[in-house]
Amino acid sequence: MTDVATRTLLAGIEAVECYGIVAVGPDDTIATWNRGAASLTGISAADALGRPVSNVLSDGSDVLNRQTLERIADRGGEVELWLRRMEGSRFYARVAVVRTPPEANGECGHTLYFRDATSLWMTREELQRSKSMFESILATATDAVICVDDSQRIIFFNEGAERIFRYEPEEVLGQPLDLLIPDRFASAHRRKVSEFGESPVVARQMGERGEIAGKRRCGEIFPAEASISKLNVGDRTIYTAVLRDITDRHEAQEELARQAEELARSNAELEQFAYVASHDLQEPLRMVASYTQLLARRYRGQLDADADEFIEFAVDGVRRMQSLINDLLAYSRVGRGTELTSVSTAAIVGSTLTALAHAITETDAKVTFQDLPTVHGDETQLRQLFQNLIQNGLKFHKPGVPPKVHIDAVDSGDFWHFRVADEGIGIAPEFRERIFVIFQRLHSRAEYPGTGIGLAICRKIVERHGGRIWVESDDNGTIFHFTLPKETVKT
Ligand code: ADP
Repeated sequence: MTDVATRTLLAGIEAVECYGIVAVGPDDTIATWNRGAASLTGISAADALGRPVSNVLSDGSDVLNRQTLERIADRGGEVELWLRRMEGSRFYARVAVVRTPPEANGECGHTLYFRDATSLWMTREELQRSKSMFESILATATDAVICVDDSQRIIFFNEGAERIFRYEPEEVLGQPLDLLIPDRFASAHRRKVSEFGESPVVARQMGERGEIAGKRRCGEIFPAEASISKLNVGDRTIYTAVLRDITDRHEAQEELARQAEELARSNAELEQFAYVASHDLQEPLRMVASYTQLLARRYRGQLDADADEFIEFAVDGVRRMQSLINDLLAYSRVGRGTELTSVSTAAIVGSTLTALAHAITETDAKVTFQDLPTVHGDETQLRQLFQNLIQNGLKFHKPGVPPKVHIDAVDSGDFWHFRVADEGIGIAPEFRERIFVIFQRLHSRAEYPGTGIGLAICRKIVERHGGRIWVESDDNGTIFHFTLPKETVKT
């Protein structure tokens, strides 16, 4: 190299800002200290030159003495070290060391090249922190998290998976995923995972309706809810399955379904019983009724006064029993209604009022209605529903005050909300549930006639239509509320 070239090179080295370039003699003292070294360390050339390199650059933790320099030079390439900065602070540096040619006494010095890598260190630290955070989240998750590679061998098995499958990680890591799947599903499952691998979808539920079966270490099969996702890492694909044991939920659902089935069966049985009993009782009862009435007609006044009274009791009792049985029959028939059609509730209420015209005039009642919609329902039953409620409104009026009943409906989303309001005697809070139970009455027949079946029938009709019925009442009267689903338009 010419003198000019050497001078240019040295000037260049001296001027470099982002690299610290420092020549250290065989006695470890600093021989040159470029501008980069001064700006990275904050130590001026005047303070550095002639001093042992370890005194100037060594940080408390990483010692930069002759042995260290030799080791770094031997290794070639860069190492990462903490170096000292002025005023006790430090910085993370990437350091390369090159031996200089031997001097006359055969000893070598070193040249150090270093640059600031603090931000690299911080990024790495941050990555490490979030990695450990994710690892601990995964490890402690209650769900099983299992990763498999392209060949469907298990490469990650968290604590949740250990708990659910009852394996130790070392028993499953490197094993095929089949280990955790019931034998009869294993090949289909393997195929599905491969198909998923080739599809553009990155995550999806596993199994039909999101449910699959898992196999524990002891061979026990259990239901699970699982999803799978894939991640391309370099040229491999990693599949992650997140799986939850739903044995408890399954058992609860099965129990619920069993109870519902049992309830439906016993309900149907009861209904059948009530129907058969009331239907079959009608015939003999009719016979008892006609003969007691015959007795009453033929022998009234011919026996003594007691006998007349007894016959009267018998006739009355039979009549009551007939109406109870008729009611029971009507009640048990609600479940067997006809098909639901489009029904105008305004028309139903209109014709009900015509049918009740006599009772209305007799009591000087005022019955009004407005805004009644068309619904999807069983016309006969809806007629019975309105009739029972209006009749009760007419019947339970305050003594001496003519009945007033108003019927209307409001839109409440998927339902119509109907109200039948009166200004009658009201219902005490403690009876507001009981009145919907079959044959429950709050008054004697002498006070108000009836059998106590009307509201039970109303509830059955409303519930058969998918609605709900309830009552609101105070001293000013009673409002029966019920809902019916809106008309479903068939296309
Ligand atoms: P019934 O009218 O034959 O007694 P329901 O089942 O229709 O049978 O009614 C049950 C009971 O609820 C009635 O006996 C009555 O005490 C009470 N009730 C029903 N509707 C009204 C009303 N609009 N106002 C006050 N009480 C009522």
